[in-house]
Amino acid sequence: MGLVLQVYLDDQKVYVCFKCNTHIALHSDIVSKAFQGRHGRAILFANAYNVTPGEKEDRMLITGEHTVADVHCNTCQTLLGWYYYYAAVGEERYKEGKYAIEKKLISKDPQWT
Ligand SMILES: [Zn+2]
Repeated sequence: MGLVLQVYLDDQKVYVCFKCNTHIALHSDIVSKAFQGRHGRAILFANAYNVTPGEKEDRMLITGEHTVADVHCNTCQTLLGWYYYYAAVGEERYKEGKYAIEKKLISKDPQWT
């Protein structure tokens, strides 16, 4: 394994990976909090950091067909959520290019103010 470069988010409100504390997302990038993940609530973020989308796959969800990819923490490889490449249903298109992260897999950075 090579060196994993981490992006440090210089912000007051940062969500981190619950396992390894790597910075994952900014509170200010939240698009929606009312999201259903595979294991409970998920948060939709406009952007995520220190994660890498895996293989693209088509998934049939309650809201129609989507092309998504799982995203893992770059540091500890925990599966944190998924990335939306494409949504077939027009009203779901706002999710394209965004990340849904399972709420229980991230925590607030200790410096959250
Ligand atoms: Zn991690």
